[in-house]
This record gives sequence, structure tokens and C-alpha cells, in this order.
Amino acid sequence: QIKPNSLAARDIAYHLHGYTNAVRQEQEGSLILTEGKGIYVHDENGKAYIEGMAGLWCASLGFGEERLVDAAIRQMRKLPYYHTFSQKTSSVTVELAEKLIGIAPVPMSKVYFASSGSEANDTVVKMVWYYNNALGRTKKKKIISRQKGYHGVTVASASLTGLPNNHRDFDLPIANILHTDCPHYYRYGQEGESEAQFAQRMADSLEKLILAEGPDTIAAFIAEPVMGAGGVIVPPAGYFDLIQPILRKYDILFIADEVICGFGRTGNMFGSQTFKMKPDIVTVAKALSSAYLPISAVMINEKVYSVLRDNSGKIGVFGHGYTYSGNPVCAAVALETLKIYEERNIVDQVRRIAPTFQREMRRFADHPLVGEVRGVGLIGAIELVKNKQTRESFAPQQGIAAQTSKFCQELGLITRGMADGMAFCPPLIITEAEIEEMFRRFSKGLDATWAWVREQGLV
Ligand code: PLP
Repeated sequence: QIKPNSLAARDIAYHLHGYTNAVRQEQEGSLILTEGKGIYVHDENGKAYIEGMAGLWCASLGFGEERLVDAAIRQMRKLPYYHTFSQKTSSVTVELAEKLIGIAPVPMSKVYFASSGSEANDTVVKMVWYYNNALGRTKKKKIISRQKGYHGVTVASASLTGLPNNHRDFDLPIANILHTDCPHYYRYGQEGESEAQFAQRMADSLEKLILAEGPDTIAAFIAEPVMGAGGVIVPPAGYFDLIQPILRKYDILFIADEVICGFGRTGNMFGSQTFKMKPDIVTVAKALSSAYLPISAVMINEKVYSVLRDNSGKIGVFGHGYTYSGNPVCAAVALETLKIYEERNIVDQVRRIAPTFQREMRRFADHPLVGEVRGVGLIGAIELVKNKQTRESFAPQQGIAAQTSKFCQELGLITRGMADGMAFCPPLIITEAEIEEMFRRFSKGLDATWAWVREQGLV
């Protein structure tokens, strides 16, 4: 029951949410959060929830990290704003750029700042086009992404995203963006096909697409090390080892979208290290500032930078930049975040804790509603299916994941369904005891879903 003039009622009256069913929001209201501490967030009535998703895969240091608050306040007082146009920048932005180059997964040359993952990937699309124009390769403009990849919601980054929701109602994708297969072995592996054969088929399919379009028209390939919003899809073993020689063969730039995987999530500083990826361009956001302030970055290697540089000398500026690129307060918080990751050895922390996380998650594999449990490091998903044997999914309108999330929320756990994969991506500071508590709550939520499914006659 929504009380008149409550925050929930005012939210319904005035606030349009993204990725939200407006009718359901009007009927049920939204969860209104007021504070957070560690891995917990609290709603307006004081109820505590485990944030099993670190918000949107981003609040890696959890909530209430005072050092980040102090870093922001200090910088606010010193220099709250500056930009990065026409040979100007703030000191802390330079420090952050240097730091990122120092920890990049492969040798990188320069960092370009933006405010969100979408903006970073949008920037990359323009950089790739600019790069090939500068080289006089005016036909080499197509960028290949993957079905179920998620790269953002701006017009260009939504085009890269390979999910129907992001295209259908917006006349997307734009021209020059193509999609190749989603490398999800459980879903798309064929009868009798081994994981290695599946990875080979994915690589063959990419090469076929490149040849069909003409290699001289393909500029770049973009991939998340682990697909996040597409359902936490871990690539089959050997996948990137097979993909990368193809990209090199046809002189295609490789872009790693590390927006979720960057900064420890998969058990290495970058997902590129976990999957032996050697990208030319890397995008990061989210955990770069532990989500305390909006900041993202594009790292480019010398191959890309040298072309941008020479062209700039010849014809003028790279005509792209945001008012908030390299914002000093965001940069100060990001720098402090990276310092904390280093001091607390966040990669070792993830490696220490990940076996507990993976073990607790995989306990659900035998549940009658669970088709697949997958994950790496501190990210994973539990896929719900209607039929365990045939792997048949529930119909989308049956809303199995939304229902499960709802039960979990009542039990004090926030998790979200990516299609029918219930995703887990907790703050990296989570303890073993907290992991066990998170999955205890999920277990009750899943049992409630199982009872509901049978009550509704859905199985
Ligand atoms: N890339 C990946 C892999 C993401 O997961 C996201 C967001 O979830 C984005 C890009 C877009 O980032 P943002 O929402 O900050 O625009």
C-alpha cells in the first residue's frame, strides 16, 4: 500500500526511471534507499538489504567508504571543476591518467576521460572511425560486437549492445555496427559439440562475417571479457585465443570493454588478464571510482594514438570532448579508489574469497529450477529454467527472474535477473560470512519462487 505524499508516491508522481516498467512502478512503487554501509543498503523504513549486485556492478568498495568521501571534499575545496580542452587540465586528472597507464593490462599510451561507460564506448566508436579516416581507409568503418554484449545506451553504444530491448524501439543499430554470435556454450552449444569445438565454431563464424562483409570494411571488434548484462556469460575456454589471430590477420582493432570486469572483479586487475586478451583499446568505468562519482576512461595504445596524433598535427583537433571529461573531483575519488585497491591488495582479496563465492553459488546447481551456474572471480549467475533436462526457458511474460528478485528483496537481498540468469556481483569487500548469508537469503528466495512456480502451474 503506497501512502499518499510518501516518497514512494512522489516518486511515482514525478520520477521517470530507466529500465523500469512504468505500469508496475505505478502499481507497486519503488524501493527507496536512504543509506548504505559495507555491503548493505537501507531503505526509508530502516530495513537492510545485502547489495548482491554492488548496485549496477559498480560499488566495489561497498557503501560508506570514508576515504572516498574525504578525497571528494578535499578536491571540492581545492579545485571543484576544470576541463581538458585546448591544452588545459587539472593536476589530479594528470595523476589519474598516469596511474591508469601504469596498471593497464597491456602497454597503453594515453587515457581519455568521460563520465560513463556509455560515453566511453561512444568515444571509442568515434575514435575508430577517426583512426581509419586518418589512414585514408574510408571504407574500413564497421565495428563488430556480439549478440547479448552490453556496451551502453547512447545511440552508438546502444548500437554496439546486442540486446533486442536496446534496438527494437529506437531504430537501432546505426549503420556500420554488426553483431556476431554470443559465445554461451550452455545455450548455444550443439548436440555432441565440445566446449573447444564450440569456441572454434564461434571464431569461424566471426571470420565468416568478416569475409562476407569484406575485411577492408571491418574496423574493430568489441567484447566484454565476461558479458555482464547479457547474463554473466563466461567465454568458453580458448575463445579469445581463437578470436585474436583473426583480428590481427585482417588488421581489425580489438576493444576490450572492461566496464564491469576492470579492477579486480574476475580475480585479476583486468578481465583481459584473466582471458589473455591483448586489446588495442580498453574502456573502464564503474569500479574506477567504486561508483562514488561518475567517471570512465578510454585507454588507447601507441598504434592508435600515433595516428590520432599525426592527424591532429595535419588537420586539427580530434573534435570530441565532454564538459566533464577528467572532472577533478571524480578524478580525485578514482585516484583514491585505486590507492585503496592497491593498499588492500584487492586482487588477492578477490582470489582469496572467490572460491567461497563460487562454491556457495554452485550449490544451487541441483535445484529443480536451475539450469546452469556460471561465473569467475566475484561475478556469477544462476540461470533459471522451466525444464532442467531440455534447458527450456520460461516465457518472458512469466517474469520468473522479476519474481525471484522480488522474493529475495523481501528477504533482504538485492539481486537482478539478466534474462533468466540471477546475477551476483557483490562489493569486492564482501567477507566469507557475508557470502554465506547472501546465498542463505537467495536459497529462501529461490524456494519461494519454486513454490510460486508450482502454484501458478508454470512447470
Ligand atoms: N559496458 C558494460 C560492460 C556495462 O556493463 C555497462 C553498464 O552496465 C556499460 C558499458 C555502460 O555504462 P554506463 O551505464 O555507465 O553508461
